[in-house]
Amino acid sequence: MATIFSRIISGEIPCYRIAENEKFFAFLDINPLAKGHVLVVPKKETDYLFDLGDSDLSEIMVFAKRIARAIEKAVPCKRIGVAVIGLEVPHAHIHLVPLNSMDDINFSNPKLKLPPEEMEAIASAIRKYLV
Ligand code: AMP
Repeated sequence: MATIFSRIISGEIPCYRIAENEKFFAFLDINPLAKGHVLVVPKKETDYLFDLGDSDLSEIMVFAKRIARAIEKAVPCKRIGVAVIGLEVPHAHIHLVPLNSMDDINFSNPKLKLPPEEMEAIASAIRKYLV
């Protein structure tokens, strides 16, 4: 069965899309740790990030860098934190989390639940800064 992220990529399940190319897809985490928390995923279903081939692994980081640069401009933060967890969804993904303090990337923190219009405004602000 297709993973929830494959169903998002195919358009079956809605998301707040940030960017895509032929291999990778980026969208807002639905339950963000911080405003502007983005997930970057390979379109090809692979459970574990480090099972990607060397060139796909390199390319997904370069794709994530472009997204991180845009998040930095759209969301007030000191850095973009990068995390790989993957204990919930078995489809490789990189978390990009805007950080103002170490605690902002503590996955044990309660997640935010933002209204749809705020999620769309954040996604739109990030998209505006993509180059
Ligand atoms: P993990 O697999 O532990 O790295 O966590 C999976 C992440 O995917 C969590 O942060 C969830 O909030 C996020 N997530 C799950 N379903 C969706 C969805 N439909 N749209 C966006 N993000 C999601």
